[in-house]
Amino acid sequence: MTVDYRSWIRDIPNFPKEGILFRDITPLLGNGDAYKAAINTLAEQAKNWGAEVIIGPEARGYVVGAPLSYSLGIGFVPVRKKGKLPSETVSVTYDLEYGKDILEIHTDAIQPGQKVVVADDLLATGGTMAATIELVQKLGGDVVGAAFFIELLPLSGRDKLQGIPVHTLVQYD
Ligand code: IMP
Repeated sequence: MTVDYRSWIRDIPNFPKEGILFRDITPLLGNGDAYKAAINTLAEQAKNWGAEVIIGPEARGYVVGAPLSYSLGIGFVPVRKKGKLPSETVSVTYDLEYGKDILEIHTDAIQPGQKVVVADDLLATGGTMAATIELVQKLGGDVVGAAFFIELLPLSGRDKLQGIPVHTLVQYD
């Protein structure tokens, strides 16, 4: 089934602050056919990359990563903001537009050498995904691909992802 994903993504000007054009995926998530087609397409790609586990950063990384895992019959590992995961973690500090943030993953979540596909809804500057990839690599995981619904091309997020293969469904100039 061919889906025009762009028609299911809504533009919200000046959110979360003045001057930002927010790409809102909630219409896509709210349409069963569009959501399913998006997940099926990314799942096919993740399978071709040889994914053994899917990893996503909170929160929208879960609405992409978890159905990918389910669809492929492989595990899902959440990456969370500092202090949310209950067991032993490793962490990475990364830059935000203003200030810094910390992401964490459980130390026993990935086996060394395991093939990992990382997933999120949107690739902007690449900071969130670069930090997620760093966490996986700290645990010895092999990141074989990065999957997103949306890519904001002018922000060049791909350049931060170490040349890891990237697949996106919709690109905005
Ligand atoms: P980055 O770290 O700059 O690549 O930003 C990507 C992260 O910010 C992702 O986790 C997205 O969910 C979120 N994000 C940034 N801009 C948007 C947007 O326009 N729409 C939806 N999410 C966004």
